[in-house]
Amino acid sequence: MLNHTVMSPPAPATLRNALVSVENLRHLYRKGSASDLLVLDDVQVALHENEIVSLLGRSGSGKSTLLRIIAGLMPASAGTVTIDGQPVKGPASQVAMVFQSFALFPWLTVLENVEIGLEAQGVAPAERRKRALAAIDLIGLDGFESAYPKELSGGMRQRVGLARALVVHPKVLLMDEPFSALDVLTAETLRTDLLDLWAEGRMPIRAILLVTHNIEEAVLMSDRILVFSSNPGRVIAEIKVDLPQPRNRLDPAFRQIVDDIYARMTARTTSPAQRGGTFLGSGLGMVLPHVSTNVLSGLMEAVSGPPHHGRATLQALASELQLEVDELFPMAETLQLLRFAELDSGVVRLTDEGQRFAAGEVDARKSLFAQHLIAYVPLAAHIRRVLDERPSHRAPAARFQDELEDHMSESFAEQTLGGVTSWARYAEAFAFDQTTGMFSLENPD
Ligand code: ADP
Ligand code: MG
Repeated sequence: MLNHTVMSPPAPATLRNALVSVENLRHLYRKGSASDLLVLDDVQVALHENEIVSLLGRSGSGKSTLLRIIAGLMPASAGTVTIDGQPVKGPASQVAMVFQSFALFPWLTVLENVEIGLEAQGVAPAERRKRALAAIDLIGLDGFESAYPKELSGGMRQRVGLARALVVHPKVLLMDEPFSALDVLTAETLRTDLLDLWAEGRMPIRAILLVTHNIEEAVLMSDRILVFSSNPGRVIAEIKVDLPQPRNRLDPAFRQIVDDIYARMTARTTSPAQRGGTFLGSGLGMVLPHVSTNVLSGLMEAVSGPPHHGRATLQALASELQLEVDELFPMAETLQLLRFAELDSGVVRLTDEGQRFAAGEVDARKSLFAQHLIAYVPLAAHIRRVLDERPSHRAPAARFQDELEDHMSESFAEQTLGGVTSWARYAEAFAFDQTTGMFSLENPD
């Protein structure tokens, strides 16, 4: 029994009849002198009446960029967005956005914060008040009309944000990770309330597009899920969820869909960079995550030991290590980059070297790690080569930071250099002196 279908990309006719249609969308961010950053490429999305669609993708895959373009807050580099057949050319009044954390005005009450959306539209004061009170009531903030944001919990503030979006009676509600800043219980209550209001047809909207990096949230809430790849972002799979609402996370059919999506999101193609994984870019320009060698060793030990014996599903590992799968991804992908593991369809399998590492003593581990670091991480090889070639065997970190910034932002460059430095220090491949900011081959410890 299949409760979900994987669908093919929308045909042009489907796109044209949709409430929101995104066609051939492409977006690049200009990065000054360096090459531009292609964030979205060849994106097609159709959102129909009465649908909740989730856009599911890793952090940095361009989801927020896409939402901002649909809302008319910024123009795309190429492609078209239409809402109800009208091309979007600027801030669109038919759509409203809810963000991860809401920028409420601290000096305004709940009621005033909700009304402000209507003021911009030139709605008369009496009508404004009436509609704002209705939205506040609908969203469960009754009795808090005259409270100030600082007097509210995070969940209540997010409700104010939702009321402010709904009060303008948009055709489409765009939600950008609206639950991710809330604690688990508050988030679940708000999701359930929203789904109830939707099912009862009480919200003055015709469709919802929800951006999330949380697979279970997508399966819980949506009629369809668009799986987004990174670098550049594009829709790589479309999954129709046919389970009736309300859905139960423990239902085997629910778990089956979640598993299927995990597998798709970790499906192997040729290289981590092309796979839309953690590592944006390639070669020296590859963005690396900050994953400590302790974590990497621990992960290899966990996979190598019982009950896995060298092969484990990400899900089993995540629950064993009490991590979210989202947190585990970059760690597993780092092992793959270092050729200590292979990652395919949600399964981590240690390579022979990974097995040797897990079984090895401290010194054997360090030397194996150093070999793989220099062989498979271009930045580490580059730093090592510069140090080997210089008579002083010393070089300032700032030089490598500059080189990295030709390929990535300052903060990604810092993260990448910091990660490689800590790996090299562990492996004794080269040393870094914090006070002088110099790399060296001297007494690497
Ligand atoms: P997501 O919402 O999926 O996390 P974003 O759309 O926020 O992704 O960002 C996608 C990529 O574009 C990231 O690499 C991010 O650093 C970059 N980016 C986002 N906004 C800007 C901007 N204004 N200028 C340059 N790069 C940006
Ligand atoms: Mg985002």
